[in-house]
Amino acid sequence: MTLRRKVSILGSTGSIGVSTLDLLAQAKVHGSADTEIIALTAGKNVQGLIAQALIWRPAMAVIEDEAGFEALKAGLAGTGIAVGYGASGVLEAASMNADWVMSAIVGVAGLPPTVAAVKTGAMVGLANKESIVCAGLSLIQMAKQYGSIIIPVDSEHSAIFQVLQNNSINRVSRLILTASGGPFRTWTRDAMARVTPEQAVAHPNWSMGAKISVDSATMMNKGLEMIEASYLFAMPQNQIDVLIHPESVIHSLVEYQDGSTLAQLGPPDMRSPISVALAWPDRLPWPAPALNLAEIGRLNFEAPDQDRFPAIGLARAALLRGGGAPAAMNAANEVAVAAFLDQRLGFLDIAAVTEETLDQMNGAGDLSGDPDIDMQTAILTDASARRVAARIVSQRSN
Ligand code: NAD
Ligand code: MG
Repeated sequence: MTLRRKVSILGSTGSIGVSTLDLLAQAKVHGSADTEIIALTAGKNVQGLIAQALIWRPAMAVIEDEAGFEALKAGLAGTGIAVGYGASGVLEAASMNADWVMSAIVGVAGLPPTVAAVKTGAMVGLANKESIVCAGLSLIQMAKQYGSIIIPVDSEHSAIFQVLQNNSINRVSRLILTASGGPFRTWTRDAMARVTPEQAVAHPNWSMGAKISVDSATMMNKGLEMIEASYLFAMPQNQIDVLIHPESVIHSLVEYQDGSTLAQLGPPDMRSPISVALAWPDRLPWPAPALNLAEIGRLNFEAPDQDRFPAIGLARAALLRGGGAPAAMNAANEVAVAAFLDQRLGFLDIAAVTEETLDQMNGAGDLSGDPDIDMQTAILTDASARRVAARIVSQRSN
């Protein structure tokens, strides 16, 4: 049977966006999915967006960066494809009549479009973890209200989601998120102090956008994922653990109260969790790369080193603190990562800036303790944490 879907991709030119389109192309050739593209959106990469739109012929293509709009209009002139720009254009694209939306914008910039997609009642493949970290419970509540199903695309959460399909969440004792450990897993703290953006962006197993690659290198990615897992699966932080597994073959594990632990395995290829989200509750046949365990030979595991990777502890504390703390932590990290990529901040300062931002906001009483913070409070907390973090970054880089 051929899967028919009307698909929009928010962040179509990014790593996840491109993987999604590649998967759709392969499934089309394979005859397992026939998709109509409703909307494609990009941030700055206007040429990439034009090229995709000429192939996929969406009803609408939107460039967030206004500077690219003239080029977009010219590039798609005469095609009948509607064009738009700016945050409002992205929101319009996200609100269109798709039945499956890939949320793959990077950072909290993805939150308002994700909310717009949820409000249409569409099924949402959620790669944009920052939106659930920032406004998790209200996003999940909103999905229930609008009849939208959010399916995690993050590989760890997709693994847990898959395991939980046939197994009771009530009998889970622990969720175990695996982590590759990133490019500096074996480095000393001194060596890590001198890491350059190029080194941080080169991930050993996964090819990803710059921001998430830096997050993987600091392990803030795993911190964000712990918060994401806590909200998605309604699991308290003390029942979520992180396990370093350098081969990235086991994507996560679920431990049950009867002593069984179930895992999901696969090659490190995001098209696989994307296909799970696309076809759920079915599975999509496509020429997926198979896992060859005999060739891999052995799998390794170790505990994370909290000293060199303090981001995991920061995330745990933010989750425990609740309310606006995860949103503030995420915002501070986004500001610090951007400064690091811009060579205004050292690698180890990323976690330090994040910690200091949380301390200052906590001390000033600027963090709501209400666990059910609403969307508006989350967005306001994000904005004030950005201001605090930017100030700390400029003090440190002087
Ligand atoms: P990326 O940087 O490669 O792509 C981001 C996309 O968003 C691009 O299309 C970009 O043009 C667009 N964009 C950037 N800023 C924007 C803005 N302000 N407004 C509108 N559009 C904007 O990132 P990615 O690696 O594809 O990651 C996307 C999301 O998926 C992130 O939240 C990331 O954490 C998550 N994720 C990625 C992977 C992966 O393997 N890449 C795995 C798991 C989760
Ligand atoms: Mg992940």
